[in-house]
Amino acid sequence: MKISMVSEHASPLAALGGVDAGGQNVHVAELSLALSRRGHDVTVYTRRDDPFLPDRVRTGPRLEVVHVAAGPARVVAKDGLLPYMGELAEGILADWGTRPPEIVHGHFWMSGLAALDAAGRSRTAGRPVEVVQTFHALGTVKQRHQGTDDTSPADRILLEAMVGRSARRVIATCTDEVFELKSMGVAGNRVSIAPCGVDLDLFTPNGPAEARGASHRIVSVGRLVPRKGMDLVIRALRELKDIGHDDVELVIVGGPGSSAGLDGDPEAQRLRTLARELGVADQVELRGQVQRGEMPALLRSADAVVCAPWYEPFGIVPLEAMGCGVPVIAAAVGGLVDTVVDGRTGVHVPPQDPQAIARAVAEVLADPEWARGLGRNGNRRVRARYSWSRIAADTEKAYQLALRSGSAAVEEFDGRGSARHLESTGGRAL
Ligand code: UDP
Repeated sequence: MKISMVSEHASPLAALGGVDAGGQNVHVAELSLALSRRGHDVTVYTRRDDPFLPDRVRTGPRLEVVHVAAGPARVVAKDGLLPYMGELAEGILADWGTRPPEIVHGHFWMSGLAALDAAGRSRTAGRPVEVVQTFHALGTVKQRHQGTDDTSPADRILLEAMVGRSARRVIATCTDEVFELKSMGVAGNRVSIAPCGVDLDLFTPNGPAEARGASHRIVSVGRLVPRKGMDLVIRALRELKDIGHDDVELVIVGGPGSSAGLDGDPEAQRLRTLARELGVADQVELRGQVQRGEMPALLRSADAVVCAPWYEPFGIVPLEAMGCGVPVIAAAVGGLVDTVVDGRTGVHVPPQDPQAIARAVAEVLADPEWARGLGRNGNRRVRARYSWSRIAADTEKAYQLALRSGSAAVEEFDGRGSARHLESTGGRAL
């Protein structure tokens, strides 16, 4: 099969840990690679955000990344990218020429607009392409949790629902997302589930572990944005101290790659100030961005990996921790409800509850044998369910369903009208 992936802000070639570079980058990179290994020809289209990037980068025998000129050739926050989706669609269409793919797979809602636009115009020219969409995150959920702090374009929720209703198939990454999609008006019979996966050759239980600076260590990994709840883990550290566990260090991974970058990062500063105020500054290390290859040794050094987001569309970090055989303490939200099994591979805690996090860490520390069992079970679970080859096979099934249901009616919206209108208004509300 010939497959085009569209990932407007999340390049599979980008460094991870920045504000807009995380799970989606990993997902697009790994899924594309796994599909190419299954014999498909995969091209990933992403926005050119640096003038020195080559037009095309071949990353495997059947896999390439194309940098499309769409908007300025520099980093633009993803919430500012909507006006350039028409240009992205033009670039994709031009690259397809007279040989479009069978499937164009949009990642994130804005890529969905570009995918629908390109596919719509290809169809008009007599060359049909089916659109499959993975949202990775939903505007409705973001708005619910972030309220006035949500910097998404004003039309996101409206356009996202249109993308969901117009794509031939929508792939949800977890059960919770299926409910959200239905409430957006996406018909259940057009939704498939294919979660994110984990690189099981990299994230293994056996291998080097980083040295610790204290008897116990907990690790939290994520982009340094408030909704990842790193502050809640710092608060939990204080709670732990109050119940007699003062020999625990917390390593927070993510954010800028240099100490100067961290010094200038507002979220890093907020976390440092909080740690100082709570009297745990000497137990907290803000590590900043960590390269992929170094992540397993870091995860293996932890008694537990704590994931405390307010909400989480999927969350790849818990899978990576489980791959390394480390128990996961996770807020029971979004994808974490599917991936972490309470009492078997880790512990679920209510969202935004530092005391519950502290209690869960204390339980893990109090019973190392039980904790090792959680780690072993977690490793078994990811090996059984979350290899990228399995996720690619599930995705391929969704593609086949999309191709088979090609004649069934879906809402006619090709992404173009709205994208064009927004271009002319500079992305402001309709
Ligand atoms: N990550 C990384 N280095 C960092 C921070 C994060 O490699 O400094 C990786 C992390 O290991 C995971 C991804 O970025 O693979 C984050 O994905 P997740 O789904 O957990 O969160 P998202 O960023 O999508 O909200």
